[in-house]
Amino acid sequence: MATPYAYFKREIVPLSDAKIGVMTHAFNYGTAVFEGVRGNWNEDESQIYVFRMKEHYDRLRRSCRIMRIDFPYENEELSSITTQLVEMSGYREDVYIRPLAYKSSELLGVRLHDLDDDFLIFVAPFGPYLDIEKGARCCTSSWRRVEDTGIPARAKITGIYANSALAKTEANLNGFDEAIMLDERGHVSEGSGENIFVVQGDHVITPPPSSNILVGITRDTVMTLVREELGLQVVERDIDRSELYTSDECFMTGTAAHVTPVVELDHRIIGDGRMGPVSGRLVSLYFDIITGRNAKYSHWCTPCFSKVKA
Ligand code: PMP
Repeated sequence: MATPYAYFKREIVPLSDAKIGVMTHAFNYGTAVFEGVRGNWNEDESQIYVFRMKEHYDRLRRSCRIMRIDFPYENEELSSITTQLVEMSGYREDVYIRPLAYKSSELLGVRLHDLDDDFLIFVAPFGPYLDIEKGARCCTSSWRRVEDTGIPARAKITGIYANSALAKTEANLNGFDEAIMLDERGHVSEGSGENIFVVQGDHVITPPPSSNILVGITRDTVMTLVREELGLQVVERDIDRSELYTSDECFMTGTAAHVTPVVELDHRIIGDGRMGPVSGRLVSLYFDIITGRNAKYSHWCTPCFSKVKA
């Protein structure tokens, strides 16, 4: 039986004991930054591999700088806490790891300075997020992506997720799987929790960080695979909404969504309405890599179980 654990107030405790007070600053004002990291279950090896842990903690550190959150942890310590948590929790399935650094003072007053900071991590089981085989039916959101001049999207700030939640719920209640948000200039930005790519001939195109995206780790993984394994060109440039309708293929990337084809947008079929050849190759490469089955990319995978069960 799996029992979830958390890292909380510098200790590993049962998840049920990790509680914050109602006056906690981050809970009231959205002043926390976080990561979503996946641990991927490999049945053959009875092992969970954490994918690109270093890159996630590096991004968390950058988010902390923007939000003036003190984060006195080195990657080595973070890696050891994370793998220990996963091992102790004992899940034998895909898990989601949520590190979160937050303004922990229990007081009133909107600001970032003169507050205490704290850090926690929890682990939860987490299966598929979107249907990869079927692909996602999406809509262009009526909500625009927040601008860097409002809340910087390059930082994974809890408060910014009100923007994503508005877009996701609008999409779901209107019968779509996911929302694609435009930025204030009207260019394509990203999904509520995914980056976006289009395929046009031998070019794979994705919006640049200046389109107010979270600079995704799956995005970086896919850009590497497109160049190194598929031999196609990756272009970062502004994308118009109507380009999504007319591209050969479109797909989204994210820790939760993996690589998910977008097969329909705003009631227009993209490509032939199924997973295209480029998306298909990326999906299969990606799953091999994240489950530790591709030796070339094993440096991206951190095993959690020290004693592998036979
Ligand atoms: N954009 C947003 C808004 C997200 O929440 C996520 C998920 N973290 C992504 C993009 C994809 O980022 P990553 O590939 O690092 O998970």
